[in-house]
Amino acid sequence: MTTVTEATAARDLRRIDHWIGGESFPSASERFGPVFDPAAGGAVARVAFATDAEVDAAVAAARAALPAWRAMPAARRAQVLFELRARVLASADRLAETISCEHGKTRLDAAGEVQRGLEVIDFACAAPQLLKGEHSAGVATGLDVYSVREPVGVVAGVTPFNFPVMVPLWMIPIALACGNTFVLKPSEKDPTAPTLLAELFNEARLPPGVLNVVHGDRTAVARLLEHDDVAAVSFVGSTPVARSIYAAGTRAGKRVQALGGAKNHMVVLPDADVEGAADAAVSAGYGSAGERCMAVSVVVAVGDVGDRLVPAIAERIDRLRVGPASDPGSEMGPLISREHRDRVAGYVERGAAAGATPVRDGRGIEVRGCPQGFFLGPTLFDRVDPASELYRDEIFGPVLSVVRVENFAEAVGLVNSNPWANGVAVFTEDGGAARRFESEVEVGMVGVNVPIPVPVGYHSFGGWRQSLFGAHGIYGPEGVHFYTRQKVVTRRFGDPERRGVDLGFPRSR
Ligand code: NAD
Repeated sequence: MTTVTEATAARDLRRIDHWIGGESFPSASERFGPVFDPAAGGAVARVAFATDAEVDAAVAAARAALPAWRAMPAARRAQVLFELRARVLASADRLAETISCEHGKTRLDAAGEVQRGLEVIDFACAAPQLLKGEHSAGVATGLDVYSVREPVGVVAGVTPFNFPVMVPLWMIPIALACGNTFVLKPSEKDPTAPTLLAELFNEARLPPGVLNVVHGDRTAVARLLEHDDVAAVSFVGSTPVARSIYAAGTRAGKRVQALGGAKNHMVVLPDADVEGAADAAVSAGYGSAGERCMAVSVVVAVGDVGDRLVPAIAERIDRLRVGPASDPGSEMGPLISREHRDRVAGYVERGAAAGATPVRDGRGIEVRGCPQGFFLGPTLFDRVDPASELYRDEIFGPVLSVVRVENFAEAVGLVNSNPWANGVAVFTEDGGAARRFESEVEVGMVGVNVPIPVPVGYHSFGGWRQSLFGAHGIYGPEGVHFYTRQKVVTRRFGDPERRGVDLGFPRSR
């Protein structure tokens, strides 16, 4: 593994610096991290790890930009977002290519990520509509009450490696539309694309300081969490980090939403269209090499459907083309790092020993032209024991587990007792069973013959239990609520008849 020190020493590598106050901010840090091309397996850049002073500079820039930005009419803030939308559209290919280079996902997959991020910009362009309050005229004689939603202040966003453009776009457009300013700490594993996003905001004439990007690791995050001028924190990443960020942020009096990991189940009932379900399991299980928080990682086969479903999945796996994003024929790319690939391979190694039936084992894969790449082929286990680590842990790789259960009630019980509850899907042609599933399942996002749904930008995204800490989901209406606080005004003008002291508790008259 290349260490932070070695990356600092590799001075010939391209360096990735912060973006503060509307321009690139060369870091004075002693610490840099390596950024890899996961398909080739070598370091391609080094990213600055912010010092406390650099984090403070980003927060100070956001703080300084806040009064003018929040005072700007929402319609004018929306104009910047319209301009941003045009620039992201025009740069979509460049963004997708940048994502693929450092993340490894295929170009098509990366283009889809940009598209889903654009949806949130579309939504945020309606800022004046989103911020409309409520008004009650004449709640008592001559008395009106109305509510407005005001920005919370400086918001920090901490984002994961698996969606370096989409997840920052889940946060930033809505936070900005609502009048907040922002400091983003993106993943240190693929930091170029989020920095490019900041440049596009700048080209869209976002005032300097409204959006800032600091790079780094947990040290930078710790500084953001303890900073008095940060009012709210949006986090997306793994569950242990989400839990700790929620605890630290709320302890410091901040508003926090922390989205965590997942173990998404796809329940297949005996009457399901098995071919369609197999397509869905393979698409959602191995898309982005399983590195999606909405990946299907467990197929729950009810009754005898597993006997038809498992061979149908295996047959599709055999046709999957694994390779680098630079090859347009690739359908699945590498994992993010060598360590992560080896960790996932460890689960495969131990899976059979724990009693699961290996149907396909991706460990031996060789990808032509990429001998050092972080590849692992699609892997399938049948008859996985829910007590085993294959079932219990979020593996975050191309490993699909099939758990066999007797009936509907057992399937729902399994899903509801899992600690994660991000997304779930049911596959059935029976409307009554689907309806019952929707109602009984205790998971934040449900798909019916859809694996696994990421709600469109004008709804909101959020799991339950250990997949989300905090009261608000992300983007859509929940995003507006998270990034604003309500103020309720009770107003009376010129009513001379109501003069006089009255110590009674105010009541409607
Ligand atoms: P991660 O938790 O390791 O890192 C996420 C972010 O937190 C990064 O910016 C990282 O630098 C920072 N970080 C890491 N360790 C930290 C620590 N100890 N203290 C403070 N900050 C820390 O996650 P990842 O590996 O980048 O992303 C994969 C995970 O994200 C998976 O668990 C996946 O399910 C989850 N995820 C969830 C969603 C969702 O919407 N629920 C979406 C995407 C990814």
